[in-house]
Amino acid sequence: MALIHTLFSLMEQFYDRHVESLFHKSRFRRRIGSYGLSPNASPPVATLDLCHRLTCKAPICDRFSLSYGGFYARLRQPAPTNALLAGSGMLLTAIDLKKYGDYPTYLKALRKRSGNFCRDALKANRLGYRIESFDRSMRVNDIRAIHRSRKVRSFGLVFEAIFPFYKENVTTLQSAADGSQSPCGLHWDLAFGIFVNPENASAPDGARSSRLVGYARLHRIGNVVTYADLIGHGDHLHDGIMMLLHTVIMEWLLDSENMYAKGLDYLANGTLERGNEGMFFWKKKALFAPYLVNLLEEPLPADFNATEYLKLNRDVALAGEDAVSHYRKHGRKEQRPYKTSGHSSDGMP
Ligand SMILES: [Zn+2]
Repeated sequence: MALIHTLFSLMEQFYDRHVESLFHKSRFRRRIGSYGLSPNASPPVATLDLCHRLTCKAPICDRFSLSYGGFYARLRQPAPTNALLAGSGMLLTAIDLKKYGDYPTYLKALRKRSGNFCRDALKANRLGYRIESFDRSMRVNDIRAIHRSRKVRSFGLVFEAIFPFYKENVTTLQSAADGSQSPCGLHWDLAFGIFVNPENASAPDGARSSRLVGYARLHRIGNVVTYADLIGHGDHLHDGIMMLLHTVIMEWLLDSENMYAKGLDYLANGTLERGNEGMFFWKKKALFAPYLVNLLEEPLPADFNATEYLKLNRDVALAGEDAVSHYRKHGRKEQRPYKTSGHSSDGMP
């Protein structure tokens, strides 16, 4: 079974790198144009501070800073030092939360620019769908049904829908359920679900019998929160569930009383080039716009291992210093070792 999973994950990677990327160039020209920008013009800059600080001690801080640091570093930057990278880097699509400030202002802009987005959200609300935060590990079967409800999605083929014995998404889901929050408040992983009661919902135990028909997973990394997953059940998409989900999340993010959202500047959702036309127009209607990425901190090397670093640099460990901060402040300049040479495989967890 493990071999089959490896094979499918290789197929997915191949599709992603070699098939999907064929469309990026033409999509870029067309899509940047639909924002009224010329392909040579510079889009606005989003300054991202991933907040890897001494105060961040939880495993999720490390994991998110590393994985998202790598992702954002590959996107297009304002002043490219590496011309080759600048040519291949994609544009981030995000909503500048500070630009709207509060939910009524965002809703007003949304109504003005995309009235049907609001109408779809209202329709889902009227049909009885409701949005709640939830624990994904308690809804494994519903999540599996959602993922398998469409063979083709905006981001390409869904391998687990085509080959039902392929369970990749659900297995990663279970392992991700642990350690998803950090006391720092700057790195967290939350899921918001779309719930609906069964057709003949005469029984009062609505909570127990309700079904999950879509969800969004939000990852916060410093001043940016990202849609890590945004997926709905194929049978319910036409009810406007994704529009309702997004507006409720925006209301939550723009609530000044919400402690989770303190200091957030952007809601990010992939890149301009990735995803099919349906996804692109959905994002545009939701007021996502293209941005260049200015990363405040240089990301760590992809294979940086904090435990290994402390083992190889005993003085840092003895001083009780944080491996990541020490490497950022001194280690990089001093070219200190962060992995045992010849063992490049034991990097990230
Ligand atoms: Zn943290």
